[in-house]
Amino acid sequence: MTLTRSTPICVKCKVIMKCHKNAQFVQDPTVGGFPSTVWSGDVWKCPGCSCKVVTGFGSAIVNGVGSVDVLEFKWDLKSPNENEGE
Ligand SMILES: [Zn+2]
Repeated sequence: MTLTRSTPICVKCKVIMKCHKNAQFVQDPTVGGFPSTVWSGDVWKCPGCSCKVVTGFGSAIVNGVGSVDVLEFKWDLKSPNENEGE
């Protein structure tokens, strides 16, 4: 396996995460309105601690059909834990 621009590495376990699932839709909270805008990405999972990330987003899609598997989240641009970790 080679590294790409979006290959996630678990800092805690120091291993390359494995692709867990393709086509995970994520709702884009910065684009308002209806229908909502979603992005299609891939879920990567750490084989060590099982933490997951979504990365490798392609293009934005207007969610007109109401995808069943959409991850909604709050995009907090001002994170209180900005310097947490390293
Ligand atoms: Zn890990």
